[in-house]
Amino acid sequence: MKQNSYGGTNALYLVPTPIGNLDDISIRIKDTLSMVDAIACEDTRVSSKLLNHLNIHKPLLINDKYHEDTSVQTILKWLDQGKNIALVSDAGMPCISDPGYTVVYTIVSHGYPVIPICGPNAALTALMAAGIDTSHFLFYGFLDASQTKRESQLRSVKTLEYTLIFYEAVHRIKPMLSSCLSILGDRQCAVARELTKIHETIYRGKLSEVIDEIDEKGEYVVIIEGYHGKDHDQTKIDQLIDLLKQQGIPNSSISKIVAQFFGLRKNDIYQRLQEK
Ligand code: SAM
Repeated sequence: MKQNSYGGTNALYLVPTPIGNLDDISIRIKDTLSMVDAIACEDTRVSSKLLNHLNIHKPLLINDKYHEDTSVQTILKWLDQGKNIALVSDAGMPCISDPGYTVVYTIVSHGYPVIPICGPNAALTALMAAGIDTSHFLFYGFLDASQTKRESQLRSVKTLEYTLIFYEAVHRIKPMLSSCLSILGDRQCAVARELTKIHETIYRGKLSEVIDEIDEKGEYVVIIEGYHGKDHDQTKIDQLIDLLKQQGIPNSSISKIVAQFFGLRKNDIYQRLQEK
């Protein structure tokens, strides 16, 4: 089904909002929020702050992850009545690691226009500045909070040759980066913290360097270079360790050789040797 998506009535507008800096509101974003009849949002307190700042006052409908099934029915009813509705999330683009997909899917399947407005997004803002290949990338979003699940998710993307993009919240950044190091190896990365805010910081370097350096405050986007053909499988590492041991090479030299060969940390290999 073809949709002519510039303007119109009975439409759902997907409206990104700032990820920190309120000046990242475009003229079109402001005009759209001023024009619609109602705004579906994740948290009314968060959206009210922004709307008050813009001096826009509209009825708000809660569309968080617990209410999507019911809020979509209200949105459908409003569209049936000829109204225009905006969908926002707390920050950045709705639907991107945020609620919205269920609404968009349902509204599209009912034949109403869904109009995307351009605007702020943390993943692409970080990617632009990462200094890591931007030609092909995989946006993963959040990894699981449990170490076992997180590391299994990382194994599933380990040999992809595309730049990897993850979101992470403040209290999990170090364990998350440690899982990346142990599963993906010591790859080049860029960790963008508090983008567009006063304390914006971009850490660039090997995962092992960034883990030591990172300040655990704020929100993060983690960008990691894709797989370049080196296989960091533990069995292969162990095989090389065993081979070098059989040659009578001292542990300190083995750690150095294996770390260099797999692009890993010398101390991690040394620890592995002690465990054997
Ligand atoms: N919908 C948003 C978007 O389009 O970017 C993402 C929402 S998701 C619930 C929140 C996550 O996005 C944070 O935990 C963090 O990983 C990332 N994020 C959001 N704002 C950020 C910022 N200012 N700096 C760095 N990362 C940010």
